Amino acid sequence: MNMNTRHWNDNDLLDLLYGLDLAPDLSLAHFASCPECSARWQALELRRPSVTEPLPLSNAAEQRLRAQRAAVLDRIGQPRTAWIRRAVPAGAAAFLFFIGIALHQPMPQPTPQVVAVNLTDEQLFAEIASVVDQDAPRATDPIRGLFSENSVKEAQ
Ligand SMILES: [Zn+2]
Repeated sequence: MNMNTRHWNDNDLLDLLYGLDLAPDLSLAHFASCPECSARWQALELRRPSVTEPLPLSNAAEQRLRAQRAAVLDRIGQPRTAWIRRAVPAGAAAFLFFIGIALHQPMPQPTPQVVAVNLTDEQLFAEIASVVDQDAPRATDPIRGLFSENSVKEAQ
């Protein structure tokens, strides 16, 4: 037995199996001279495929995965429908805009409340003079009229 290097422990063998950096005091030449370490290494290498190989899929699972993959690739291959995603909000905004225009009613313009009076200056002054000469305001004329009509009817 070559005693220049120490025996490999489990961690050393796993480092070698996974391709990690080895401890500086280890040498691969130790396997040639040490049947114990060589046997452990060979056993580990024999188990390696059972750990690293993918598990065989069942036929149904494999077909389902193939169908999924084909569907994904088909969707990737299709022209993108991004324009639809952009057109929907724009269309909704345009729709609301036209609804707003259709429902819009112009605000009614206030009509001027000016009453055109066609009076000559003489008529206007006569009107003012008659108002000034009255004892009671003109607003009382309809009420006076009622009393005068009643008094006429009562007199009859
Ligand atoms: Zn050894």
